[in-house]
Amino acid sequence: MKYCQDCGTLLKGRTDKKFCDDYCRCHYNNGINRNRDQDFKKINNILKKNTSILEKLIEQGIKNSTPHSLSAAGFNFNFLTHQLQEQNGEMTIYCYNYGYIKINEEQLVLKQVTHSLNFK
Ligand SMILES: [Zn+2]
Repeated sequence: MKYCQDCGTLLKGRTDKKFCDDYCRCHYNNGINRNRDQDFKKINNILKKNTSILEKLIEQGIKNSTPHSLSAAGFNFNFLTHQLQEQNGEMTIYCYNYGYIKINEEQLVLKQVTHSLNFK
C-alpha cells in the first residue's frame, strides 16, 4: 500500500504513483523548493556576513588577523565558498572575493581577489 507523499491519502491504481494528482505533486514540490530556498538564504546570509567582515578589515588596511578575532567579529569558519592554490603554493580559503591564508593555528593573512576569477 502506498500513500500520497503530500497529503497522505492512500493511493489507488498505478503502483508507481507518488501523489493523488497534480495538485498534491505541485504542493509537495513547492514545499521542497521553499525549504531549499530558505536554506539558500540562510547560508548566503552567513557567507555575506563573512565576506563583509573580511572586506572591512582589508579596507582598513588590516592584513593580518587571528581565528579568534575573526570569530569575535562574527566570522563563521564553517561557511566559506572555495579554496585556490596560489602560484607560490599557498592555499587561500575564500568567501567570495575575500579570503585568508592560514599561516598557522594563530595567524591568518587576509587576501582580496583583485583579478577576475577564471574557473574551468
Ligand atoms: Zn494527495
